[in-house]
Amino acid sequence: MSAKPTIYLKDYTPPSFLIDTISLRFELDETATRVKSQLQVRRNPQAAVTRQLQLHGHESVELCEIKLNGAHLAADAYQREAEFLTLLDVPESFELEIETCINPEANTALEGLYLSDGMYCTQCEAEGFRRITFYPDRPDVMSVFTTTLVADASRFPVLLGNGNPVQRGELDDGRHWVTWVDPFPKPAYLFALVAGDLQCLEDQFTTCSGRQVTLQIYAEAKDLEKLDHAMTALKNAMRWDEEVYGREYDLDIYMIVAVDFFNMGAMENKGLNIFNTACVLAHPRTTTDAGFQRVESVVAHEYFHNWSGNRVTCRDWFQLSLKEGFTVFRDQCFSADMHSAVVQRVDEVGILRTAQFAEDAGPMAHPVRPASFIEISNFYTLTVYEKGAAVVRMLHTLLGADVFRKGADLYFERHDGQAVTTDDFVQAMADVSGRDLTQFKRWYSQAGTPRLKVSDHYDAASQRYQLNVQQSCPATPEAQQKLPFHLPLSVGLLRADGSSFVLKDGKTTQLLELTEAEQTFVFDGIDEAPLPSLLRDFSAPVKLVYGYTDEQLAFLLSHDEDGFNRWDAGQQLSLRLVNRLIADYQQGKPLSLPDTFVATWQSVLQQAPQDPAMAALLLTLPSEAYISETAEQIDPLAIHHVRHFMRCALAEQLESSWLELYRQHDSQSGYTASAADMARRSLRNLCLSYLMVLESPAHLALAQQQFETADNMTDQFAALISVAHSGFRDSADELLAEFLSQWQHESLVMNQWLMVQATDPREGGLARVQQLLEHPVYDARNPNKIRSLIGAFCQQNAVNFHAQDGSGYRFLADHILQLDAQNPQIAARLLTPLTRWRRYAADRQALMQAQLQRIMDKGQLSGDVYEVVSKSLCQ
Ligand SMILES: [Zn+2]
Repeated sequence: MSAKPTIYLKDYTPPSFLIDTISLRFELDETATRVKSQLQVRRNPQAAVTRQLQLHGHESVELCEIKLNGAHLAADAYQREAEFLTLLDVPESFELEIETCINPEANTALEGLYLSDGMYCTQCEAEGFRRITFYPDRPDVMSVFTTTLVADASRFPVLLGNGNPVQRGELDDGRHWVTWVDPFPKPAYLFALVAGDLQCLEDQFTTCSGRQVTLQIYAEAKDLEKLDHAMTALKNAMRWDEEVYGREYDLDIYMIVAVDFFNMGAMENKGLNIFNTACVLAHPRTTTDAGFQRVESVVAHEYFHNWSGNRVTCRDWFQLSLKEGFTVFRDQCFSADMHSAVVQRVDEVGILRTAQFAEDAGPMAHPVRPASFIEISNFYTLTVYEKGAAVVRMLHTLLGADVFRKGADLYFERHDGQAVTTDDFVQAMADVSGRDLTQFKRWYSQAGTPRLKVSDHYDAASQRYQLNVQQSCPATPEAQQKLPFHLPLSVGLLRADGSSFVLKDGKTTQLLELTEAEQTFVFDGIDEAPLPSLLRDFSAPVKLVYGYTDEQLAFLLSHDEDGFNRWDAGQQLSLRLVNRLIADYQQGKPLSLPDTFVATWQSVLQQAPQDPAMAALLLTLPSEAYISETAEQIDPLAIHHVRHFMRCALAEQLESSWLELYRQHDSQSGYTASAADMARRSLRNLCLSYLMVLESPAHLALAQQQFETADNMTDQFAALISVAHSGFRDSADELLAEFLSQWQHESLVMNQWLMVQATDPREGGLARVQQLLEHPVYDARNPNKIRSLIGAFCQQNAVNFHAQDGSGYRFLADHILQLDAQNPQIAARLLTPLTRWRRYAADRQALMQAQLQRIMDKGQLSGDVYEVVSKSLCQ
């Protein structure tokens, strides 16, 4: 059982004391780092008067000394409890000095100060600073930080902190020191330090007002050649934020450091971002195109936080989406500007509609602004990030780009240097637009995915077309009844010849605003029965229900001017067929693909060369995850079998087209990372994956040749995965062995190697994963390795994970129990597949529940794991 209490948003009170400045001195040592802190403290005039000062402090922190205004505090003047240090009687304002001792080497949770491959680094969001020293570790306490780092000069030549370096020196004992000052007040979660033997790539950026900023990206010497892409992305992001949001960088230096042991993707600490190597290192030889895009988007995301997160931060952790939703929206728009906007949108919606919708329908469902939590680490979720971004996007859609920009300007200007709430953000948008957004704010307080049921009526005599929309939202753990949402529904109307009606304001897309549980919208002057194109560009995070016929979906697929809806029409068409085939499969009937379906694919294949990026999207069947999310009851075996059958049938019936397209899109002029080349590779590798399901030796030879001759990881990896998941066992083993020997010294490539095997759907998956746990490239302490092997198996290998004997569930529970003591954050995140037990048939439900219960029964769980398991069991 967890001793940790539930924390409620409604209980928020302002901090009793404020810290104007904090001066920190770290004497770094692997097992006994000394941390001296000097705080200027004063009572908060906005808070209730108290003489007690409560500071957070993790139980692992040893208190060595404490002084108030220069005098030692008597032992009865303070109390030390598990999570707090309380000073019982303090004056109005004073100086507090605290010395603590911490053990970075023993810190396997990777929160606070820890070692990553021998270098010191920190992760303080959300509540890691309390593992370093005693402090009011909450985001609404903002202070000016000065940090001095002292460490052995030969082993740790690079010493980095937040802000600007102001002084450095050497000590007689071989140690050196550097002092950093960050002039911008910040909460403790944005504190960072790094000490190590690192190299850096350096560049300059001239801001819009003409200031010079030094840009440095640090990594181990061997990885220096993998930093160019991140640097380019950083400069593009800095320019984009100036142009699109008028936001300029504010310090003289901006640093990014790559570390191999990291729980998250990256962290936006002021002036000193710390990145998971997977989100910063990129080189064509070792990184796939998807990896390149991830680096670009994460670098931009963390940079954008400098304004949306750091200059204006969150009042409390319930407001996490204030910074994350807005910043994800900003990085999505940046990526759309850098690449194909439609491809970007399809990717975003893919994540939202599979994983976030599933979260919304499960036991951990919570509003974008949660009302309570036990462990905040559990709320770094798709709901807070992706749905939060979708909510900001709806504001952008409802208000229009110009008004939205004015609202963002007002928000930054009004709240610069403050810790604020999602209400403050929406208020700025309301103030510039003059609109009442009270109802809109329900998106922040009501969980669940709304459902829109649309019906229509056309009257030829009056040339009037009517759309009737009903909205509803299912119950979620925090609320049974939901009030209607305010949302933008973008629609177009298609004529029989495929062109679009011109609607309001001369546009072919019209924005309808939904505010009621049921509303009817009227279109006049419609001179023929139209086909509606609904929810264009996925204008709201909802499930749409409209009775399209297959023919109508096929028509939208060929004619809709909205790229997203074209793609989605294809997905819905495929999904219908998947569901019919699943029913056939479950009744033991033979499976077959209708000729009309094959003909649709044939025509997409024929047009593919005109837009390879779009074609690659259109020719991809709905993922197993998306099919599962939309299913009444998930039958993992049937889903896998049917999807595989469809791939085989499409491959077989269109074999010559796949082959021709594969050959046409061969790289003629060598590798480039351009959007056009990425699209070409993605289409070509998709063709290869279809061909490989045919298990023909001729296609195997193609894949092997591609593997051997590829000059980039995208092509080599695509060839590897297509062979490794095929029936050619000997060839698969050969290629896997070759790949291992070629790349065994590249840790990130080895993550991919583990992942290919973990996701192999063929029989015996669990045994293969268990063997790999013993392999030298696996490291049970490294979160990237855990995610690549255990995470990938449980989340992306449904047939094996959901084996009828429950072995997959038992395996996951074993590892969660093991991991919980070591790294609770990662343990809690791995639990997700088990939390979905209600979506499966009774036999699987019982097996999954039994494993959750087994974890619960162990007792002594971290707050992280306890919260997820207990909520999953009681729903
Ligand atoms: Zn973020």
